[in-house]
Amino acid sequence: MNSTVADHLTRMAAGEVDRGLMEVGGLASGNAIGVPYMIARGTGGGPCLWVNATVHGDESQASIVATEFFRAVSAHPLRGDVIVTPVANPLAFDQRRKHSPFDGTDLDQSFPGRSDFLGTQRLAHRLFSELSPLADTVVNIHTMGPFLDACNYAVYKLHPAAGDERELLSLIALFDLRVACRMDVSGPGELPGRVEGALDYQMLELGKRAFMLEAGAGGRYDRPAVEKAVRGLLRFAAETGTAAKTDAPGDRPASICRATRRTHVTSAEGGFFRALAEPGDVVPAGRPLGEIRNVYGDKVEAVSLPTPALVIGIRRDPIVHSGDRVGFVATEWADIDLTAPSGETS
Ligand SMILES: [Zn+2]
Repeated sequence: MNSTVADHLTRMAAGEVDRGLMEVGGLASGNAIGVPYMIARGTGGGPCLWVNATVHGDESQASIVATEFFRAVSAHPLRGDVIVTPVANPLAFDQRRKHSPFDGTDLDQSFPGRSDFLGTQRLAHRLFSELSPLADTVVNIHTMGPFLDACNYAVYKLHPAAGDERELLSLIALFDLRVACRMDVSGPGELPGRVEGALDYQMLELGKRAFMLEAGAGGRYDRPAVEKAVRGLLRFAAETGTAAKTDAPGDRPASICRATRRTHVTSAEGGFFRALAEPGDVVPAGRPLGEIRNVYGDKVEAVSLPTPALVIGIRRDPIVHSGDRVGFVATEWADIDLTAPSGETS
């Protein structure tokens, strides 16, 4: 193993800022597979925050948020260390693909990883074994796929080792999001795969605070979405004690919209999809989220749900085949009072 991030941090003085490349393997061409990182050394008086971005390579806006956050947070004295890995999945990222082109494996279903098998598992293992012991809090930034438009939202999981739900929701509320989605790890998940292999869940298992921030959609530069996400990260760093506190006490949000059930919505027909709702909208039962016309211009489908839906993402790329995802919605949600005493929230 080449020099570690932990070694790098110990060589730095409080207030210093630096960067490096974590070498996680090699290519046949002789080039290294490297994960870039940025680190800022605090005084040691606060927790270490790790902001990881773009475990899915087509979620490029997450990387923009991460680099901008690091510039902003490291411009001021810090109590705890900050580690930012803006491109966690470099092989997928450079190809604008969700997964590595070499093994097709989902990095965010691969933690804590394996040091002896597929490339993506090796990458997960190196990231996790190096950074999980250093980090006290983790924000893993994703976006929706580039074929959707989306609002900023959060996804979180619960684990008995890592504090109560209301405390986590209070921190997530600092990001001023449309909705925070609670994801059931024991269930089947929204898409096929191994939900418990997510970075945030593996960090919860170690007793650290962690969740996923979804910063709009990938493949674009949506300035308001980026600014909102960066602002949220700065507030999070201050509220958890990594950075100096700036907000007045009254600035902590009093409530958050929590979704406890959500689903992808798919099309039955192929053709051209036209959205009839926007991210953040609540669409009544039976009202179409969008309609599909076939290649001859005939209207062949109005995509609707039998229940009310809170639209989190809606398809922007019009081309759809049968079974393509045209929307991502919450079907069960409620406002959660964050001023009530800690404990059960449902
Ligand atoms: Zn993702």
